[in-house]
Amino acid sequence: MARVLVIGAGGVATVACHKIAQNPDVFTDVMIASRTKAKCDKIVEAIGNPNIKTAQVDADSVDELVKLFNDFKPELVVNLALPYQDLTIMDACLACGVNYLDTANYEPKDEAHFEYSWQWAYKKRFEDAGLTAILGCGFDPGVSGVYTAYAAKHHFDEITHLDIVDCNAGNHHKAFATNFNPEINIREITQKGLYYKDGEWIETDPLSVHQPITYPNIGPRESYLMHHEELESLVKNYPTIKQARFWMTFGQQYLTYLDVIQNIGMSRIDEMEYEAPLADGSGKNVKVKIVPLQFLKTVLPNPQDLGENYEGETSIGCRIRGIKDGKERTYYVYNNCSHQEAYKETGMQGVSYTTGVPAMIGAMMFFKGLWKRPGVWNVEEFDPDPFMEQLNKQGLPWHEVFDGDLEL
Ligand code: NDP
Repeated sequence: MARVLVIGAGGVATVACHKIAQNPDVFTDVMIASRTKAKCDKIVEAIGNPNIKTAQVDADSVDELVKLFNDFKPELVVNLALPYQDLTIMDACLACGVNYLDTANYEPKDEAHFEYSWQWAYKKRFEDAGLTAILGCGFDPGVSGVYTAYAAKHHFDEITHLDIVDCNAGNHHKAFATNFNPEINIREITQKGLYYKDGEWIETDPLSVHQPITYPNIGPRESYLMHHEELESLVKNYPTIKQARFWMTFGQQYLTYLDVIQNIGMSRIDEMEYEAPLADGSGKNVKVKIVPLQFLKTVLPNPQDLGENYEGETSIGCRIRGIKDGKERTYYVYNNCSHQEAYKETGMQGVSYTTGVPAMIGAMMFFKGLWKRPGVWNVEEFDPDPFMEQLNKQGLPWHEVFDGDLEL
């Protein structure tokens, strides 16, 4: 019996649930629960397996979560809602004796700031309860950490430089759209950049450091240095790292729109008073509070609807420099994922696919007993080999380049 509860019914959850359904030998009982039950039902309909249960839950409420966990009795909760819900779900897991996995670290709603300290603070409680929590098990964070662990295990005595390079060379034919939740995405991109060098964190102005990087099968793309959460855990878990950076590609049109959004105040996350017409048709107005970025999300294209016309591919990997047998060497490990292939298989585009597949593999690692250890862990703290093997089997094959030019 392997009972898994997926929370959230967005793009990433849709892919993870398709993949869970493709592996019935591992996952015997499945429930999808989210804020809007109709979206969970839609996923079940698309998968075509009526045995998958669905439920409504507000994951901001520990009480509602506890009730749901006590009803369904999952062994593992896969949190694919938003980073805001991480702590309430972890609290409910502790209250009910349930294991935990997510793909993004906690962020408070009123502050665009992410770091692991909030979730790492749960380590002792998960340890004492004999429960496993696996943090950041998407692609980046997620596969990026597993790639690094694999490189450290098989190809290096010491890793000194790590560059995570994330390219989306797809075209969705929309003027402006984000590839995952717009609110979380825009909060992330408009933050200051941050990278690690010689034991210190160095801050840069948002998207101010950039250079072209050549991606396999894609070619050169302008890539921007950003802060990304896995850097925090990777430099802690691999203390030989002298420099760690994260790069992501953006097209000029995307950046121009982003500039406008910021300049006109639509990326603000503070509450504003707005006079809105009452829904009763009386013609009267009422004062309501709105958060501009949350309002913007309601008018932007839904990332889940981008798949059908999405062409091109993503390319995400780790470019690593270090020492093996006394000599310097470089290593590049990456995956390219086609948006159209992802859409044909799951109805979702490549960014949801590259996140949802590793979330399922992490859950599989847990149920196979391979990634099961009381405490709170980042993915690179587990054995990378069985995970790497599954990436090849589950739709995200990886490739290696030894001693090539890293460009960075
Ligand atoms: P979506 O916005 O498409 O989906 C989020 C889902 O969570 C929606 O179904 C939403 O419900 C639900 N939800 C939101 N709030 C609550 C709540 N309070 N209670 C219950 N359900 C709730 O996002 P994505 O699928 O694109 O992303 C999911 C997660 O994956 C995010 O945390 C994102 O940061 C992470 N991610 C990680 C990546 C990685 O590589 N590690 C890459 C991309 C994303 P409703 O539909 O009703 O709004």
